[in-house]
Amino acid sequence: MELRHFIGGAFTGAASGAVLDVVEPATGARYASVADGDAADVERAVSAAEAAFPAWSRTPAAERSRLLLALAALVESRLEEFARAESRDTGKPVALARALDIPRAVVNLRFFATAILHTASEAHPTDHAALNYTLRRPRGVAGLISPWNLPLYLFTWKIAPAIATGNTAVGKPSELTPLTATMLAEAAAEAGLPPGVLNVVHGRGAGAGAALVAHPRVGTLSFTGGTATGRELARAAGPLFKKVALELGGKNPFLVFADADLDAAVAGAVRAAFSNQGQICLCGSRLLVERPVYEAFLERFVARARALRVGDPDDPATEQGALISRAHLQKVQGYVEHARAEGGRVLCGGGPPPDLPARCREGFFHAPTVISGLPPGSRVNQEEIFGPVVTVTPFDGEDEAVALANGTPYGLASTVWTNHLARAHRVADRLEAGTVWINCWLLRDLRVPFGGTKQSGVGSEGGDEALRFFTEPKNVCIAL
Ligand code: NAD
Repeated sequence: MELRHFIGGAFTGAASGAVLDVVEPATGARYASVADGDAADVERAVSAAEAAFPAWSRTPAAERSRLLLALAALVESRLEEFARAESRDTGKPVALARALDIPRAVVNLRFFATAILHTASEAHPTDHAALNYTLRRPRGVAGLISPWNLPLYLFTWKIAPAIATGNTAVGKPSELTPLTATMLAEAAAEAGLPPGVLNVVHGRGAGAGAALVAHPRVGTLSFTGGTATGRELARAAGPLFKKVALELGGKNPFLVFADADLDAAVAGAVRAAFSNQGQICLCGSRLLVERPVYEAFLERFVARARALRVGDPDDPATEQGALISRAHLQKVQGYVEHARAEGGRVLCGGGPPPDLPARCREGFFHAPTVISGLPPGSRVNQEEIFGPVVTVTPFDGEDEAVALANGTPYGLASTVWTNHLARAHRVADRLEAGTVWINCWLLRDLRVPFGGTKQSGVGSEGGDEALRFFTEPKNVCIAL
């Protein structure tokens, strides 16, 4: 299989002819190649997007909506095909891709396709002297850069609001997971999206990604990825005065108070810790448990973690698949070694899972791992691991819980498990995070603001926030 760019409505290889290997994480074997784009390819894609912008931005919202709904319907009609592709490309269980990734991509497209039919703009009468009203216009060509952990889910989360609001787009998916982005481009052409409205350029971050960030005619950048990359991107885009949204990493606390429903908290913690092998930016990777229930929680949590079925992502019964790459697996292993060296107790997992099927022997698997006994300042408690490795730490009372929860450079999502109503509100108010979940995790309403604080990001996505991000407000003041 040869995956190519999608530029101006046509599939094309890299101008340089360069390609990268695409590896199946479950087997460790190469199964496709993908175009390795550079500045020349980005230039072609930006030119195509620019050429499409005048007509697309003037296309009535109802027509833009119709085309996006047609695209959503096509993806939905191929859900199984997309889910298998996503699972193969990422190593995630096919059951997860079927239940989460692809349905959510469809919902993203539908959400913004219909949102643009219900927008209003503000008016500000200045006493009886003047009337102000706000116009919100699309900004032009948007650069959309996404990561490998939820490939189609996050790619469509950017594409849908960008093009629904009348921008044209150049998307760059992760070089590790180019498959479903390519399939989306095929579907976009089939749905009748005019050439140039959506372009996909493949390639490495340092090549195609950096060229897109630096391109002088790409005025809007929406990026989801790691904090270190976000910092580099901000450094490059800042002097060019681009409008930038950065959705970055996290080290999310998961707080369990003694008054919580412990069964529900344990079940929630297992999902939060290990969904997608812990490779979701919102995963709860630091479990903080109030001391009176610490031992009881830990015992049940470890038993559940140990029982998770790790195996071939292709098997519908598999709950834990492979990590994205050998390099990432080694990074995760490095943190476990570091935890051991610091005196942490590895309560389960800690290495490769036993009993993998023959097909998966060279795959990038790591058993779900729970570690206790590490100080809050340990690197393992401070840095994003982004794998199936969590720490558990006891606390005494609300103040300590909040101090521990807020005690990292990140501020993406926090989860609180308690049955005390006032405490839930109090603690939610004090947590430094873009999202606080109370007695739930990853329950998403696409209308709500979504983003991170501190080193987890700048700017917000979701609902009206996304519609505003991808449009430029202009005030018109009329003297009366
Ligand atoms: P990454 O930062 O390595 O890569 C993300 C994307 O940026 C890829 O497409 C990559 O090719 C590109 N890129 C890399 N260097 C670049 C550069 N210099 N200029 C332009 N583009 C560049 O991240 P990843 O490893 O793919 O994804 C994992 C990270 O993403 C984790 O830190 C995770 O927390 C984060 N993430 C955040 C959210 C969120 O909503 N906050 C969601 C998912 C993932």
